[in-house]
Amino acid sequence: MHLLYLDDSGSVLNRDEQYFVLGGVCVPETSVRWLSHKLDEIACEIDPQTPTQVEFHAATILADHIAYAVFRRYNANDLTYFNCIEGRFYQDGGVMHGLAHRQTYNDRCTCPACLTRRNAR
Ligand SMILES: [Zn+2]
Repeated sequence: MHLLYLDDSGSVLNRDEQYFVLGGVCVPETSVRWLSHKLDEIACEIDPQTPTQVEFHAATILADHIAYAVFRRYNANDLTYFNCIEGRFYQDGGVMHGLAHRQTYNDRCTCPACLTRRNAR
């Protein structure tokens, strides 16, 4: 089992935007205990008197950044943020499974999602 944190970027109602992105962070259930322990350690450093009062929104923030980086890559052809996360998408057999590009207008698209799927055929 995995925990999934999702966030979106873009607006379906905005006619100036061509893309709507749903981004997320997937954490294996077996890593939750380790992650929780690390966050407890950081909370103790931040507030040694009441570490349980420290709130983290790391997964939410990370999901937001992923959605924004992918949105910028597709909607504005801005690779600045996407290049920082591109190597982190789940891949298997040469196919980038953690990123999907749903479109029907360009069967020669060179984005990593389309390119890896086409090359795997
Ligand atoms: Zn594509």
